[in-house]
Amino acid sequence: MSAEGYRCSYCGAPLDVTPETIVAVCEYCGHANWIVEEAKTEVYMVSSLPREMIEKAFWRRVERDFDLSRIKREISVQEIQAYYAPYWFAPAVARAYYEGYKTETYTDSKGRVHTRRKHVSGRFTIDRYLGVIGRRAVEDMAIDEMEEHYVKSRIPYEPLSKVDWDRVKLKVLSAEYDEKTAKNLILEEIWLEAKSRAKSNVDELTKFECDVWLKDKPRLILLPYWLVVYRYKGGAYRVAFAGWDGHPLEATEPVMLYHRLGYLAGAFLGTAVSGGGLALGLAANSWEISIAGFLLGVGMSYLFGRKLTADVRIERG
Ligand SMILES: [Zn+2]
Repeated sequence: MSAEGYRCSYCGAPLDVTPETIVAVCEYCGHANWIVEEAKTEVYMVSSLPREMIEKAFWRRVERDFDLSRIKREISVQEIQAYYAPYWFAPAVARAYYEGYKTETYTDSKGRVHTRRKHVSGRFTIDRYLGVIGRRAVEDMAIDEMEEHYVKSRIPYEPLSKVDWDRVKLKVLSAEYDEKTAKNLILEEIWLEAKSRAKSNVDELTKFECDVWLKDKPRLILLPYWLVVYRYKGGAYRVAFAGWDGHPLEATEPVMLYHRLGYLAGAFLGTAVSGGGLALGLAANSWEISIAGFLLGVGMSYLFGRKLTADVRIERG
């Protein structure tokens, strides 16, 4: 789609440019065309493995997977999609102070159990490399998982202009966020991470102060993303891979008969638990036990019942 007639300034190929685009990398020659000149910065990339390697990684995953290995002969690859997705990465720091209450239980000298609220406070620092996707809507699965996997693997990136494009070329999703927006998003992300860590240290958070900053400016890095669509008995399922090492990020898999039987058993067990809980509560003359047992059972039945009617399971990695 080149609705506004944008063409690559290096090779003249049509570019996919929307009103949101700040930079469009030409998929034929790898040239970075800056649509918003003021946003111009160096573009980096992590090159992709070739398609055959991703296909191999797919079949390796099938063989290693408990469920898929049994139906390997009935699986076929329907389609393989790939592109470079723009991410902004930066080393970020959050220094936090928090106060709150923790509820403790203790036993007194007569053996009675009590609870008390204790005031607690603490400080901590998070100092880590962090990334955000560089555009608004990416519907594909595992976009966040790819960011996490990249932070873990820390493969060095290189300037796009130094890459042998013909060897590693793929379609490139254009970036929509400039450096300043990226900076704010990364700071917001590490702030939220600090806040949730503070919350996990207390039962009730009453005070939270947090300074956040970047140790270096955000860099725009293109990461290779692969999606393998496979078929099994008329259904289509997907596995997303990180393109630099072929690591599976997330997958959907068919629900097999034995999963359904397991879920069915779970749903029945839930019914038994709710009935048992009610009876136990009546016998012990405690409505708390009755209600808790009943709700637990209903919850189990609901959860397993929902899985029972689903056609797809989601597996990480
Ligand atoms: Zn070009």
